[in-house]
Amino acid sequence: MKKYNFSSGPATLPQPLFEEAAKAVLDYQDSGLSILEISHRSDTFVEILEGAKSLVVELLGLEDDFEVLFLTGGASMQFCQVPFNLLSSNGTGLYLDTGTWSEKAIAEAKLFGNVQVLASSKSSTFNHIPKGYAIPQQGDYFHITTNNTIYGTQIHDIPQASIPIVADMSSDIFSKKIDTNQFGLVYAGAQKNLGPAGTTLVLVRKSLLGKTGRAIPSMLDYQVHIAKQSAFNTPPVFPIYCCYLGLQWIKKQGIAQLEKINRQKAQLIYQEIDRNSLTKGHTTVEDRSMMNATFTLTNPELEESFVDLAEQANCVAIQGHRSVGGFRASIYNAMPIEGVQTLVEVMQEFERQFG
Ligand SMILES: *Cc1c(COP(=O)(O)O)cnc(C)c1O
Repeated sequence: MKKYNFSSGPATLPQPLFEEAAKAVLDYQDSGLSILEISHRSDTFVEILEGAKSLVVELLGLEDDFEVLFLTGGASMQFCQVPFNLLSSNGTGLYLDTGTWSEKAIAEAKLFGNVQVLASSKSSTFNHIPKGYAIPQQGDYFHITTNNTIYGTQIHDIPQASIPIVADMSSDIFSKKIDTNQFGLVYAGAQKNLGPAGTTLVLVRKSLLGKTGRAIPSMLDYQVHIAKQSAFNTPPVFPIYCCYLGLQWIKKQGIAQLEKINRQKAQLIYQEIDRNSLTKGHTTVEDRSMMNATFTLTNPELEESFVDLAEQANCVAIQGHRSVGGFRASIYNAMPIEGVQTLVEVMQEFERQFG
């Protein structure tokens, strides 16, 4: 039986994606070849890649200045690739510190130039999104993490800035309507809301590139990947194919409809977290993530019992990240509302048994 997988990533994916991908591994569209063995220079793969890129452009309504890239190295590679390409030697990278991933991005940027952290919620275990800070008009870019996968906070109002905004959207891209054209660069590891691990979607404005004067190794140079259309070296053919399937599924549902269901799912789980006498939300209510709901138990000694109950109901991977403890239900696009309803029932049963 298919389990409800609440993992933060690699995360659950749409069932039609699993089925199509499985077929393609055996025989890609009756070609007599597995998707795993086709050349990345073949027309077949070029079509897949172009199809995936144009769906990204269409779904997000991207302006012409943007290039769509499928790169490797995870979102973590972008932590250094962004400053490598955008942070000039006498410029400044501005950062908002909202959690572990922001901190990693900040640490990498410091290898390249000046970094200014405008605000941080570290002293309160990243339980909220800092607000009311000023964004200087000087700076090469302002980096934000739109959804903090580990702590369960999300930036619901993208700040206004006169310098390019760079966004790590690994865990909330395609989950709601958002004007992507307000950014200078967006990146997202595929394994949260799009496809399997192995590729990272990067949207970058061409007009921002080539300005630092720094020599950049080819594999880290966005301009090289743009010129070679994401195939400077052998791209991860299968993960990109799966992303293409994921994008087709997103298009079929429609982002507006996905957003509606995502809101319903989030409301269901947070309502129960607030109602249940044995659970407590980790974050401030206004900054709650629609994608990762974090909570702790009023009695942490009962954690194992909660996990057992959840597993009996086919709900797996709900343990929180070690830095927060407790639990985290990741409820990305592909998590059906039935999965969230089942988890809510588990929480209610838990209260009946242990409350
Ligand atoms: C998972 C995640 C990352 C790290 O992604 P990798 O692909 O493992 O490098 C970075 N940022 C955010 C917001 C994430 O959720």
